[in-house]
Amino acid sequence: MSAPQRAEEPVDHPVPLRVIRDHGVIDVPAAERAVADLLRALGRDPESPHLAETPRRVAGSFAEMLTGPHFDLTTFPNDEGYNELVLATSLPVRSLCEHHLLPFAGVAHVGYLPGDRILGLSKLARVLDLFARDLQVQERLTQQVADWLQEHLAPRGVGVVIEAEHLCMSLRGVRAVGARTITSALHGVLRDDPRSRGEFLSLARTAS
Ligand SMILES: [Zn+2]
Repeated sequence: MSAPQRAEEPVDHPVPLRVIRDHGVIDVPAAERAVADLLRALGRDPESPHLAETPRRVAGSFAEMLTGPHFDLTTFPNDEGYNELVLATSLPVRSLCEHHLLPFAGVAHVGYLPGDRILGLSKLARVLDLFARDLQVQERLTQQVADWLQEHLAPRGVGVVIEAEHLCMSLRGVRAVGARTITSALHGVLRDDPRSRGEFLSLARTAS
């Protein structure tokens, strides 16, 4: 029998971290009733053949859009000492504006300067999705992704840029069709060192 591994021994294999966000419970039948009530309040008849299935579809759509993914985040030791920018560009972003319950959609550019550990590249998109499947404002979404990476990966720097079109701006109000909102959140070297910040922002700009 091998001796039990001591907890304080350095870990040199991938460390899985189960990622789950608590979004609260979604009561789908109650949501269906509420959608039927909304249709009535809007002067529509939810019993009509055209709308009979709408409450079920709408409730199901919201439940799907607001249910975050669960995934295992695996980080790896940065054995090669890679110390340049790791950047994933044009990751799709879809979320719901918490002010109007209308979608906003666009792309995100997420980068980090590795410290002792690196992250599977596909995981950057998963982290983005984790926070996007929520009632959001774009500013908070951007900050949450950057904060999460800073906290869990402890890189030397993190940068997140999101460019999105908000249907609440293009379909109603000012009807600014095609207008994109750009937000950014930077940590560490990417915030404090002008050269690194400039490199990240110009790569992100080139990608868009
Ligand atoms: Zn809105």
